[in-house]
Order: sequence, then C-alpha cells, then structure tokens
Amino acid sequence: MRYDAPNTSESILNFKERYDNFIGGEYRAPSSGEYFDNVTPVTGEVFCQIARSTAEDVDAAVQAAQDAKDAWGKTPPAKRAKILNKIADRIEENKELLAVAETWDNGKAIREPLNADIPLAADHFRYFAGVIRAQEGTLSQINNDTVAYHFHEPLGVVGQIIPWNFPILMATWKLAPALATGNCVVLKPAEQTPASIHVLLDLIHDLLPPGVLNIVNGFGVEAGKPLASHSGISKVAFTGETTTGRLIMQYASENIIPVTLELGGKSPNIFFKDVMQEDDKFLNKAIEGFVMFALNQGEVCTCPSRALIHESIYDEFMERALKRVESIKTGDPLDTDTMMGAQASQEQMEKITSYLDIGKQEGAEVLAGGGKNNLGGNLSNGYYVEPTIFKGDNKMRIFQEEIFGPVLAVTTFSSDEEALSIANDTLYGLGAGVWTRNIHTAYRFGREIEAGRVWTNCYHDYPAHAAFGGYKKSGIGRENHKMMLEHYQQTKNLLVSYSDDAL
Ligand code: NAD
Repeated sequence: MRYDAPNTSESILNFKERYDNFIGGEYRAPSSGEYFDNVTPVTGEVFCQIARSTAEDVDAAVQAAQDAKDAWGKTPPAKRAKILNKIADRIEENKELLAVAETWDNGKAIREPLNADIPLAADHFRYFAGVIRAQEGTLSQINNDTVAYHFHEPLGVVGQIIPWNFPILMATWKLAPALATGNCVVLKPAEQTPASIHVLLDLIHDLLPPGVLNIVNGFGVEAGKPLASHSGISKVAFTGETTTGRLIMQYASENIIPVTLELGGKSPNIFFKDVMQEDDKFLNKAIEGFVMFALNQGEVCTCPSRALIHESIYDEFMERALKRVESIKTGDPLDTDTMMGAQASQEQMEKITSYLDIGKQEGAEVLAGGGKNNLGGNLSNGYYVEPTIFKGDNKMRIFQEEIFGPVLAVTTFSSDEEALSIANDTLYGLGAGVWTRNIHTAYRFGREIEAGRVWTNCYHDYPAHAAFGGYKKSGIGRENHKMMLEHYQQTKNLLVSYSDDAL
C-alpha cells in the first residue's frame, strides 16, 4: 500500500506551515524572527518553515527548564513513570501518523518507521518507566552506629542535541531516560529533520508540566553551540559526527559538566566459512545480515559498511549476496513495499556520490550500483542513490571513512588473525557483526573486536535493555539500558552517625 503525501486531501497528516520553538509549555517565535525552509528528501520540495534560533532562544529555553526543575525532580518516580507510559500509549495510537511524518521529513522507506522506529520509540518510554520505578539507592554500614545512604538525584537541566538519521528514535533515546530520572530537557533537533519531532511533540506535550521539555530548532553553530556551552545546563547528551562530538566536549569543559557522545562508525560484518556449510535457513539469515548496509539508506551509525568474507566462500557467498542486493526494492518511500528510500538531504546525497567517485578512483571494483538512482516522475528531484558494493582493500578511504550511505566495501580474509586485524583497523568502535555457528570463534571475536556492540548471528537490532555505545572514537557512555540512569543522575551521600558518643 502507499500512504498519501502529507498536506494532500487524503493524507492522515497535515504539517503546520511553520514550527516555532517550544519553550515553557508554549510555542514561541524565534527572537530573530527568522525561519528556514524544511525540504522533504522524497521530492526535494519545501514543505514547512522552521524557527532559526540563536543564543537568546536557548537562554529562554534553559530558563524555562530551570524554573521547572525543582518540581519535576521531586515528582515521585511512579508519577513520572505513569507519564512516560502515557507518552508510549500516544506514540502507539499514532504510529501511522508518526511514520508518515518521519518518512516525509527524513526520506526513509515507511516500512522502517512503521515496523521499527516508532514501535521502538514507544517501547523505550515504557522501558525507562519501568526501570525508574525499580531503581534503588544503597546503604553502606560504616560501623555499628554509622551509615552512608546513597540517593540518586537528577542533574537538573540537560541539553540534548541529535542528528537527522532517526529523528524520533534518537529524540526518544535521549528523552526517555532524562525525563524518567527527573531532569528537565532542552532538545535541539537536527536542522535537516525537525518537523517529525514537532508532530510527536504536539501529541505528547500536554502530558508534561510546562518547562520540563523544551525544543529549540536551528543550526549547529547558531543554536547547538549556545546550548552545549550554556552555564545553566548540567550535562550535554549528543549524537552526531565524531568531529562535532570533539567540539561538544570542548564546550562542556568550560562549564565542567559531563557529556555522553554517540558518534560515528565503520562497522565490520564478518562472514566465516561455515556460513556456507550450514543449512539454507542460516545462510539466508546471514545474507539478510549482509544487506543490512542498505537499511535506512545506510544512514545508520552502525551501518555494516565493511564486509569481511572468508576467501574460501567468497565466490559462492557473493553470488547469492549480489542476487539479494539486486532484489532490494528502491522507490517511493511512502510505499510499504519500498525497502530503500531517499537520502536525508541533498548535501548527504552529494557526499555519498563523491565517495562513489573516490572508490572508483582508488581502484575498487564496483560489484553493484555505483551512482545516483534516477527514479523519475514526482521523485525525480528527490535524493536517491543506488545500493552500491565495492570490492577493495581495507586501507582505501571507502573502508576507513564514514560514508553514511548505502555503500558497502567488501574484502576477504584467510585466517582469524587477519579478520581480527582488519576488523580493528579503524578509528571507530561502535558496532560489528559476526556470522558463524562455531561458538568458540563467535565468542573470541565477540570479545576481541574493539566495539561496544557485537551482533552475533544478527544485526541492526536495537532493543531497550541492551547497552549501546561506542569504543574508541565512536563515543562515551551508553544508551538503551538502565545503566544509563547514572548518566542522568548524581549521587547524594548522607553520612549519618546514630551514636551519642563524642567524636
Ligand atoms: P552532525 O554532527 O553534523 O550534527 C548532529 C547535531 O549536532 C545536529 O543537531 C547539528 O545541528 C548539531 N551541531 C552541528 N555542529 C554543532 C556545533 N558546533 N555545536 C553544537 N551542535 C552542533 O551529525 P549529523 O550529520 O547530523 O549525523 C550523522 C552522524 O551521526 C554520523 O557520524 C553518525 O554516525 C552519527 N550517529 C551516531 C549514532 C550513535 O548512536 N553513535 C546514532 C546516529 C547517528
């Protein structure tokens, strides 16, 4: 089936003509009075205007959050949990509306937000509603009459800055734990994809007291920098490029506040020789794992963008894999049969196609795709790229640099030592995939690959309750797990003497 484009008579979604900032429980125009165009990657058309914020708007949002923080921080966990569960209900009740919004704003094929992004977002709120109720402090017995109580307290106001690849899910990954732990938030969406977050906001803002959740739109340097360097926030949570993450740390250092960073990746996906010897069911699963490089048009921080294939199975495996890649249905992102939609922006499409040229210039062999995908009709001005596979060498730029598109670089290995050395020969350490039924190989690689998440015989699963985050230049801290409550809390220790004896 095909969903109707937003703002047409049959559509389930009408975007507003313009989106202001959301501060202190109400929409406020940007202090500059300026707005910028928001374009849909599906057709390349402008579909709404977005507030272009500056430091003045960030100040107002941080102040609103400061005003709300004492009451929200003291709200009982059970009450906060109830609100989070209601947010999850609204997300579930409006799954299709949110999926259309996400597809139109980001370009992704709608089957993904329908089946993954939106259900995962709802589940994330439920998970943190649960874990905050189950969280306990600790008590240490220092001696017979002296005890140390440890309380978890919120940090206060946190700044959150997110990218454009999973706008609603990335917002959720940050908002759910921050709100659960009693913090107030100022969130800045990516300038390429702010609109779907406002559709979500419109569905949920009545559930939260004014000032608890504030959204400031705008560009990185104009709005993101004033937020990350604001003296009124107690933490910055950032997802985006490694180079931007480095700047965020510098800003935060001025105020001596903690940062969590979810950054880039260049994840290896390793196929051992027993993959071909197993039954067809396992082989088919492995082939699906191989084509995961095209999921979300490759715009995933853990995109398995390097495939390492044992040389003894290379020909046979690639014959099957390339057939599967040929069957990837590209096309209209609003059609539920489409597997790969549009890249999120023209700039991103051009970055990807420049890497297609780099790969060819470096002498990599093109096994599939290799160019823009000209779909014609009303999609002819959208941002489409063919799923592309290169064969080459791990020293090439296409193996080392994050392309953030549907571009896979394939190479072979002859021994476990070689596979491990190629897998770890990268600046990044976010994700990895290991495909084998040999439990010793799976365990060894799982432990020795330098990455925060190693999928074994699966890939691109992001359930709540499995810690996610980077080694090396891929970040600091973890998301998606109750351990991250600590990233949003500080410890208060009461050291109490119950003795009347003199000190
Ligand atoms: P980006 O770093 O360009 O932008 C991310 C956000 O930071 C945007 O909201 C942007 O406006 C803001 N920003 C830019 N410059 C800033 C500055 N100087 N000060 C403050 N804020 C600033 O990243 P992007 O291109 O939007 O996203 C793609 C990147 O995100 C990729 O590298 C990808 O790997 C990474 N990513 C990582 C994860 C993860 O969990 N590790 C998840 C998704 C995306």
